[in-house]
Amino acid sequence: MKIPFSPPYIDQNVLSEVEDSLKSGWITTGPKVKKLEALVSHYTKAPEVLCVNSATSGLMLALSWFGVKKGDEVIIPAYTYAATALAVMHVGATPVMVDIENDFNISIPAIRNAITAKTKAIIPVDIAGWPCNYEAINQLIQQKRELFIPETENQKKLGRILCLSDAAHSIGAQYKNNSTGILTDITVFSFHAVKNVTTAEGGAICLNLPDPFNNEIEYNFLRCNSLNGQTKDAFTKSKAGSWRYDIIYQGFKINMPDVLAAIGVAQMPTYFKTVLDARKQIHRDYNAYFSEKEWAISPPFQNDLAKSSCHLYALRIREITEDQRDAIIELIADYGVAVNVHFQPLPLLSLFKENGYKIEDYPNAYSNYACEISLPIYPQLTKEQLQYIMKTVTKAVETIL
Ligand SMILES: *Cc1c(COP(=O)(O)O)cnc(C)c1O
Repeated sequence: MKIPFSPPYIDQNVLSEVEDSLKSGWITTGPKVKKLEALVSHYTKAPEVLCVNSATSGLMLALSWFGVKKGDEVIIPAYTYAATALAVMHVGATPVMVDIENDFNISIPAIRNAITAKTKAIIPVDIAGWPCNYEAINQLIQQKRELFIPETENQKKLGRILCLSDAAHSIGAQYKNNSTGILTDITVFSFHAVKNVTTAEGGAICLNLPDPFNNEIEYNFLRCNSLNGQTKDAFTKSKAGSWRYDIIYQGFKINMPDVLAAIGVAQMPTYFKTVLDARKQIHRDYNAYFSEKEWAISPPFQNDLAKSSCHLYALRIREITEDQRDAIIELIADYGVAVNVHFQPLPLLSLFKENGYKIEDYPNAYSNYACEISLPIYPQLTKEQLQYIMKTVTKAVETIL
């Protein structure tokens, strides 16, 4: 049996929506993007949503909106995808990496120790779709208000560190009965091909800024800055008689095209109706199976505070070395099952090593990584395939142990 790791969910609705865009005479940013923004806003309750071409550029745009620049520090977990750090570096600031907790998410005590007068933002990451402890993070930010030195208009208006969540994994997750999208000041979703909802490549910035900000005004500003700082988008400009435009900011060119938004427009309702539940069911089935194995540690799924979006099934194998984990993965692959590792802590990657980050400073990130194997989790998996994956993993683990 051959089982892929994470194929996209493409049904007839997706094909029809994309065809509709292609035949409409308008394929870049226009009505489908507007529709996707409205859908994300509808399902998350975020007051304003701007779609862009990736989560990476969404994070970059949000940081640059807040005026984060060279000399500033942004706190991120050491355990995440590289984009979290790269977005910070792209605006010239320094990523300050901190260690994680046992649930893979950023450690609150570690954030507390890392906050300085240079800290402008924190980017918590909802690893595998499991929401961070936002109550504690938001409280900590309030406690550290005194330390914050505002330098730009928006920094003065907020008067504290910005909480910008990297929710690339967690659309549909919940924390205290609220959806990701309204748990922090700004939330960024990814619609990359492997994510729970996709547009092939894409991302969404959810604005949930407190008073005195006007989220609609900030949306318009960001939208303009996602399109070269141009006063009219190409769609508006294409209407008869409205050719003249101006460039008013040094904006980025990171808009989402309609033909890609069409995929997301078709996926969103299906995701919230059936796909998310199907992912949860697979997570539950894995949990039931692996809870019987004394060598297995199941990832967090649901508790009184939070509900996962089940983006990854991050299985850990008790007391194995990194080499043993790698050998287990090789065996699993021999049986035709594609698995993965999420993530290599950033200090293990060349760029970050060269910039002076040391894995020894992040013992929990390393130990979670060394014994982690991400299993396939998506709605197309059949019961037979699921059984096959569980048996294969067990066979591989018991061979190596
Ligand atoms: C996928 C991912 C991103 C980047 O998303 P893109 O849309 O590809 O830019 C950022 N952070 C995390 C944690 C991710 O997994």
